[in-house]
Amino acid sequence: MSQLRQDPTTKEWVIIATERSQRPHNFVRPDAALEKPPYKEECPFCQGNEFLTPHESLAYRHGGPADSAGWWVRVVPNRFPALSSDGSLRREEMGFFRMMDGVGAHEVVVESPIHNEILPLMNEGQVEEILLAYRERYLALREDHRIKLIIIFKNHGQAPGHRWSTAIPRSWGPWSSHPESEGGWTRLPATTMTMEAAFTATPFRRSSSSARGS
Ligand SMILES: [Zn+2]
Repeated sequence: MSQLRQDPTTKEWVIIATERSQRPHNFVRPDAALEKPPYKEECPFCQGNEFLTPHESLAYRHGGPADSAGWWVRVVPNRFPALSSDGSLRREEMGFFRMMDGVGAHEVVVESPIHNEILPLMNEGQVEEILLAYRERYLALREDHRIKLIIIFKNHGQAPGHRWSTAIPRSWGPWSSHPESEGGWTRLPATTMTMEAAFTATPFRRSSSSARGS
């Protein structure tokens, strides 16, 4: 399990997740990362390789059982999570230092079943489906009363090739008690407020262009 440690000077909490150093793509050769066929046998995010991931949290699929092929967007827990749902929110103090368990979650939103399909070249319907998956998981994860903030971000880079986004709900908010913060508290970032408003207040239905969802 990861650990949170508070920076004594800024009061910011920092995630210490040593298990993440074991991620396989840490050892991918740069030239291997450049190979991007539509399917890779060893890629856990490619369709047909569902057995290589933990059980899915969500999938938009054409019928069939969970953790099988036939999906177009799939969400799974990260095998090497920065935060996990186990643990306690109790803070421990060791002299000058404060720490607590890294409580939260760490999910991967696999944006396509095809290894080399990238967001800028996807059709609008597929992009819409990815955003719907963001929203659905956001609403589900915020049901956990321990969660104070959910961060969703788009991963981009050469390794490991398959495109995905990340959702990290965490047990501590964006605020801090840094003396330079307004009134002792940092304002909620505008992007966080926008996401909360968009995902919770907007009536939702799939557009007609998103035919894959029917
Ligand atoms: Zn892949």
